[in-house]
Formats: sequence, C-alpha cells, structure tokens
Amino acid sequence: MSEISRMLERIEKDKVKFIRLQFSDIQGQIKNVAIPAMQAEKALTQGISFDGSSIEGFARIEESDMLLKPDHTTYAVLPWRPEESRVARFICDVYRPDGTPFEGDPRYILKKTLAEAAEMGYTFNTGPELEFFLFKMINGKPSIEFQDQGGYFDLAPTDLAENVRRDIILALTEMGFEIEASHHEVAESQHEIDFKYGDALKTADNVVTFRFATKTIALLNNLHATFMAKPVYGINGSGMHVNCSLFKDGKNAFFDPDTPNQLSRDSQHFIAGVLNHAKSITRIANPTVNSYKRLVPGYEAPVYIAWSASNRTALIRVPAPRGSSTRIELRSPDPTCNPYLTFASILAAGIEGIKNEIEPPADASKNIFHMTEAERKQAHIDTLPGDLITSNRYLMEDDLICSTFGEHVTGALNSIAEMEWDSYRTTVHPWEVEQYLTRY
Ligand code: ADP
Ligand code: GLU
Ligand code: MG
Ligand code: MG
Repeated sequence: MSEISRMLERIEKDKVKFIRLQFSDIQGQIKNVAIPAMQAEKALTQGISFDGSSIEGFARIEESDMLLKPDHTTYAVLPWRPEESRVARFICDVYRPDGTPFEGDPRYILKKTLAEAAEMGYTFNTGPELEFFLFKMINGKPSIEFQDQGGYFDLAPTDLAENVRRDIILALTEMGFEIEASHHEVAESQHEIDFKYGDALKTADNVVTFRFATKTIALLNNLHATFMAKPVYGINGSGMHVNCSLFKDGKNAFFDPDTPNQLSRDSQHFIAGVLNHAKSITRIANPTVNSYKRLVPGYEAPVYIAWSASNRTALIRVPAPRGSSTRIELRSPDPTCNPYLTFASILAAGIEGIKNEIEPPADASKNIFHMTEAERKQAHIDTLPGDLITSNRYLMEDDLICSTFGEHVTGALNSIAEMEWDSYRTTVHPWEVEQYLTRY
C-alpha cells in the first residue's frame, strides 16, 4: 500500500472531516487553511494552492501563487475539537507552482541547513524549554492581570494553573509530544512545560504546535496564554532556552569521557562558533522590540556573551548530565522567535566553529553579573545587542547567517525590523508622559 493510501485510510479511520494545512510565516507565526477531508487526496498528491502575497515575508503580489504540500509525519488530530467530525492538521512545506521549494519558507531553510550538517555526518538535536504567562480574560479580552500569585515550583492553592497545565499536557500528549516535566515558574502566573528533545525539524514543528495548543487550551479555560518575552516590568520575562547537541553515528558527539570536563572537541568548537555569531543570532532568537526588555541583568536572562559549565548567568550553560544527555543550553532565545530560523542560525554558527576548529574563550566560572565592567573587559566578555535595530545591524553584516537564510529571508527580516523599530521609535510611550509631562 502506498504512503498516500495509508494516510487516507488513517484519516478515514480517525473519522476526520476537516484538515488544517499549517505553515509558518517569516516571523514563525502559524498560519493555516482548512480543507474538507474529501480534498485530502488532492492535498497529499498535488498540494493545495494559496496566495502567498498576504503572508508576512512571503511573496510579492506579482508572484503570489504558492503550493502547500503536507509533511505526512506531522499528521495529528486536534484533541480539543469535537469528537464528531474530527479535525486533523498537517504541517506543510511551501513550494512554487513549478515544484521548486519556496526559499522564503522558514521550514525549508532549516531543512537545508540540517542537510548540510548531515553531509558531515551530524544530526542536530534541540530541546527547547518554553515559558509563558497565563493572564485573566476580562470582558472577553486578554488583560495583564495575573491568574495567580505563585512562584517557582509552587503547588495549589497558590498555583491556580494545575488544571490548565494538565489540560495542555494531555492535549500535547495526544498530539504525539513526550512531556518530561511541568511546573510553575518564578514569576506570578508564569509556567513552563518541557518536552523531550528530538531532531531540530521535529522540535521546531513542536514549538509552533506547543504555542498554538497552549493558547487554545488556555482560552478554553477563560485565560490568555502569552509567549511575549517581557509582559510585565520588574519581574522575570519568558525565555525559550534551547538545549543543543550533535549526534554522529548514533552517539552524542558532544560527549568525550576522556577529557577533564567530559566535553568533546566538537562541543568546544560548536560553543565557539555560536559565541562568535551570538549578536546576529539575537536578531532571530529575540525578534521583537519587547524581547530586549527581557535581556537585562537581574531576571535570570542572559546579557553577556560567555559560556560556563556551571553557572546560569552565562549565555551558554553546559548542564551537568553527560553521556547521551550531553548538551549545551543557549539561554538567550525567547518564545516569540521563529524556531526554524533560530535553530538554523545556531546550527550554522556551531558547524562553522567545528569546520574551522575555533577555540572558545575560557569558561566564565564566576557570576558574570557580579563582575565589574573592567573585570568583564579583561576577560573579553562582550554584551548582547541592547535593541532590535542593533541586533538587526549585526545580522545584516553576518555573511554566514545571511547566506544560511538566503537573500529572500534576509531582506524580509531587514524590512520587518526597520518597520517595527520605526513604529516603536516614533511612538510616545506612557513612561515618557509619566516622566516629562509635569516636569517640563
Ligand atoms: P534545565 O532545568 O536544566 O534548564 P530542563 O530539565 O528543564 O533543563 O530541560 C532540559 C531539556 O533538554 C529537555 O527538553 C530535554 O529533553 C533536553 N535534552 C536532554 N538531552 C538532550 C540532548 N542530548 N540534546 C538536546 N536536548 C536535550
Ligand atoms: N525566565 C528566565 C528567562 O527569562 C529563565 C528562568 C529559568 O532559568 O528557568 O530566561
Ligand atoms: Mg525555566
Ligand atoms: Mg533551562
């Protein structure tokens, strides 16, 4: 039986009546078109056409015809939709009508980068840890009023979200996620749900699914889930730490039992590569004006470009587990990022480190936030860009990451950053009115 017949049989067996064809725009926002199950065969054989000109960062109006082709491995029934007339989704790849992959599709960029690493024998695994806030809905609208006053690892009745987290986990599990842990995070109404790492394409798909499922289930509980990086001043923001490892010949290539810290040469070169490109990766991993309000001292988010085997103040931490769990944790990304482009840029930087055998700087064993500026300077510890327009400038000057993304994506990212920055720069914010209205 062909792959397509097997898929059609599964759709029928699951009593699926509608299919959502999903993909991501350049910002990593999930988009979809729904088709009745009757159209499944056409979608699976020929693809379904759509107008790419209305999608952020996609095509110009003159060349707007695009095709969505479902990736069979991403089939999942949406558990929160009615039992009768079920709804399933596929994540799709985007093609031009002539059958060539569309170079503006973030999933394509990641696949291409993974294929380059595969030529060197490497599989890239990522384990993203998404944090989010649950806010009250007031008069049917999202607010910034906390649902609870809980803190790190709190239990009910301080933690009021145990049932919502449970519903989210049950839904994700039905969709094929392997959930590892969940807990209340440090800030009021902030939470984290961790799922098992896997190859970077699968986990990037999981990130977009995670955001969409979490928001949906929260709303069914009359709450607003937000992945905004820093929704409230003065408390922790939400990160999306990315745990990364390379596997070669089925073994973790970051592990070497014969070195003092049990880290391989590959892991050291990978760290060096990522540190070298940290400023431009920030544009992708921290894509909004608001992202930079999280990257400030005092809230467990990184600010300084350094790595450490032991402390959480560095940009890259090496968690304690070794063997197959040997990994590095990049702590800067936040959950507003496009996971496809974020993983592609981390991998490209790390692989360049390996190819050129770049050595990382010394491990920053001290708490970097307690060092003076002079001490940091002496230790050659640089700072992450402080705003979107600066990180965008670093990206535009970074030949490696720009060529990884290609001209189409690079150009679109540049226009988006310039437009967003301009709108932010020219807006008069409540802080300014509060500071200046009566003083002058
Ligand atoms: P921490 O609390 O140390 O920041 P967590 O335990 O919350 O980290 O999350 C660890 C994440 O790392 C999980 O998503 C896990 O699946 C992932 N992980 C474990 N081993 C690897 C590996 N070899 N490569 C990439 N990710 C990994
Ligand atoms: N919320 C913190 C951040 O912004 C991270 C907290 C943690 O270490 O889990 O990155
Ligand atoms: Mg956390
Ligand atoms: Mg972490």
